[in-house]
Amino acid sequence: MAHRSREHLSVPLISLARESRRACTIGVRGFLSQRRQTLKQQPDQQAGFPPPAARRRLPIAATLLLLLGSAPVVLADGAGVKIPIADGFDFPVGKPEGTGYYIARGVRLTPPVHFGEDWNGKGGGDTDLGDPVYATGDGIVSWAYDVHVGWGNVVMIRHAYRDPSTGELKFCDSLYGHLNEIKVKVGQIVKRGDQIGTIGTNHGMYPAHLHFEIRNNINIGMQRESVNRDYANWAVPSDFIKKYRRLNREWGKAMAPTGTYQDYQGFKGL
Ligand SMILES: [Zn+2]
Repeated sequence: MAHRSREHLSVPLISLARESRRACTIGVRGFLSQRRQTLKQQPDQQAGFPPPAARRRLPIAATLLLLLGSAPVVLADGAGVKIPIADGFDFPVGKPEGTGYYIARGVRLTPPVHFGEDWNGKGGGDTDLGDPVYATGDGIVSWAYDVHVGWGNVVMIRHAYRDPSTGELKFCDSLYGHLNEIKVKVGQIVKRGDQIGTIGTNHGMYPAHLHFEIRNNINIGMQRESVNRDYANWAVPSDFIKKYRRLNREWGKAMAPTGTYQDYQGFKGL
């Protein structure tokens, strides 16, 4: 059953600005109290807190925090999380066009099933081992764990995008399997083209390649057997990318559902 995406969205700019200002204030306060804590722990600290040098540095640090927009993503229990709306999708290797790579094995939803595309370097063998793997589009990391078995290191990213043919806001998940390294954490906001890991072998189980899926159904997580094998649930990744290659930039954010995956091997998704 496909997830029904709902239109939660379109926060006016003013309220976004207000919110990010509020979040930044919390961030700065947190920073200041951490800073005080650190200073308190210094055994040789003189009376007269904070020392003049620290007092001078604090506003600079606070300004930097504001400029960097380091406000953390706030997760309200199961209610969802605000994420950027994707302005298009790129290929996950050889960015942005997939240059230097090919699809060694495509999607097949009848036995023997393969729910994604296997991307290999044109050099063959393990020449692509350790090559960078990129986020296919803007989104939030919804899974980033080594679950071993046939998967190894798996990253999933939840994306919001607007289908230009209907204007409907939709959600999908991209999945990157058998990674050699994971370079992101659950809850992290990523931009299209950000490196999220490297191509791997699943601990030597396969020749190096990227197993790449796009799911229209955002409830699947690690439970692929729990849903029908059809294109309501799965997309052909390269077709999806070509179809939504470039989308209009939107300044509003989307409220992406959280808590949609079942726990797996003791790990919990977004
Ligand atoms: Zn595969």
